[in-house]
Amino acid sequence: MATIIDGKAFSANLRGEIARKVALLKQDHSLTPGLAVVLVGEDPASQVYVRSKGKQTAEAGMISFEHKLDADTSQQDLLALIDQLNSDPDVHGILVQLPLPDHIDEEAVINSISVDKDVDGFHLSNVGKLSIGADGIVPCTPLGSLMMLKDHLGDLSGMKAIVVGRSNIVGKPMAALLLKESCTVTIAHSRTRDLPGECREADIVVAAVGRPEMVKGDWIKPGATVIDVGINRIENEDGSTRLVGDVEFDSAAEVAGAITPVPGGVGPMTIACLLYNTLQQACRLNGLEVPE
Ligand code: NDP
Repeated sequence: MATIIDGKAFSANLRGEIARKVALLKQDHSLTPGLAVVLVGEDPASQVYVRSKGKQTAEAGMISFEHKLDADTSQQDLLALIDQLNSDPDVHGILVQLPLPDHIDEEAVINSISVDKDVDGFHLSNVGKLSIGADGIVPCTPLGSLMMLKDHLGDLSGMKAIVVGRSNIVGKPMAALLLKESCTVTIAHSRTRDLPGECREADIVVAAVGRPEMVKGDWIKPGATVIDVGINRIENEDGSTRLVGDVEFDSAAEVAGAITPVPGGVGPMTIACLLYNTLQQACRLNGLEVPE
């Protein structure tokens, strides 16, 4: 039976470390990291995310600036707000909650965020830095996945990794991070031939597909480490719902060496890494080292 990689405990520990460092920054440099979250419209899932980001930001001792705009806010007004946040010295991270309403050009908005405050790591400059292996801001979900992998496996160098999914927010940055760790990386997607066979070759399987329980236990090499990024809500027979990942947990856990559960695996790491990125940038923008 596989070791369960406990993302809930790992993220609680990381958030505790961040809170400790924030307290040192306040004490020694009178600096309080600030994270601005911008929400346009009333998408219920986005509202839940924003609330939980605000709560965890405050718990880490940082300042949370929330900007809630009407769904019909013009792109011009949104860009004006970002401009203002870009030049606000109390704001060290800016996150625009996606998706944005259809009349707003998402790419234009993301690329208007200052590269040094882009704590989601979606700005083209940060994407480019990651792709050339340079230091930049790394997207939160892949960063959290990598932290758990390194914590469990140590040096990843030379390992065979497969990332199933090639989205810009998870699959591609995850593959770039694994390559930077000197893994031999395969990126699989909907046109991949013999996906089970490709997965069976891998020491590390990262599933970011958005298809409930697609990756089966007999796709996993015995002893491999499985990171399940998927979050899918499915219906039970009695009409209630539950969350499952992109990996069929029970069958995979019989074969894998270690596996992240859903919920309680990668999910809690995303906000923890958002706080991590905000702390890093607060220090960088003020010419300080991150406290030890
Ligand atoms: P996308 O829908 O943007 O991308 C899905 C990827 O999976 C695509 O590259 C697609 O291939 C590939 N794919 C789809 N079907 C198959 C298939 N049958 N075989 C092989 N590959 C396939 O999803 P995201 O990357 O945004 O998210 C992936 C999952 O991760 C979702 O469940 C999402 O909810 C979850 N997620 C969790 C987060 C967290 O933990 N905090 C954060 C972000 C996402 P192609 O490109 O060829 O279409």
